[in-house]
Amino acid sequence: MEDIKTLVAGFKRFHTNYFEGESELFDELKEGQSPKTLVVSCSDSRVDPAILTDSAPGDLFVVRNVANLVPPYQPDSAYHGVSAALEYAVCHLNVAHILILGHSQCGGIGGLMECSCADELGEFIGHWVDIARPAKEKVLEELANKPKELQARACEQASILLSIDNLLTFPFVKQRVEAGNLSLHGWYFDLQEGALHRYNPSAAEFEAVHTQA
Ligand SMILES: [Zn+2]
Repeated sequence: MEDIKTLVAGFKRFHTNYFEGESELFDELKEGQSPKTLVVSCSDSRVDPAILTDSAPGDLFVVRNVANLVPPYQPDSAYHGVSAALEYAVCHLNVAHILILGHSQCGGIGGLMECSCADELGEFIGHWVDIARPAKEKVLEELANKPKELQARACEQASILLSIDNLLTFPFVKQRVEAGNLSLHGWYFDLQEGALHRYNPSAAEFEAVHTQA
């Protein structure tokens, strides 16, 4: 119960900060939300996008899943949680940016790299992370015989780019990107170094963001 008490105490602090201290913010948010950015990030407890970007309630529309993956457009009768959130953010909230936020030491990508068969990872995880299989295959081809840590890191980054490609398979995303109303971004958080890397399409590489003023 101690863990839950900690969460309740946290909610009390949130209440003090946002409903007593900064009441104007929630007065506005009670009327509706208009976030400018959709973030797709990992469920990993260490990479909360709101904390990493020091964002306030109402700033980010967030989808979190194992390994921060976007599946390709698949209009069928299966349950598509990520696609539904994407559709809501793009078509109803009209976000201007979609950010795929990957990270180092990702358990989902680590599992994908380690296992030869998706079934080894459990009933659901293996099939889910298999979305990133093309990224794994590319890395194993380009970095054959390199240390496993290097391959995992490369796959974490390659899967961010794969998710960006998958975003463009959604007609409502592609159309807005082509019209210049929506931009797509790939970010990578290195949690060992506390460093953020952003993908630069013209250089075709992830570049470190300087934290010094
Ligand atoms: Zn992860």
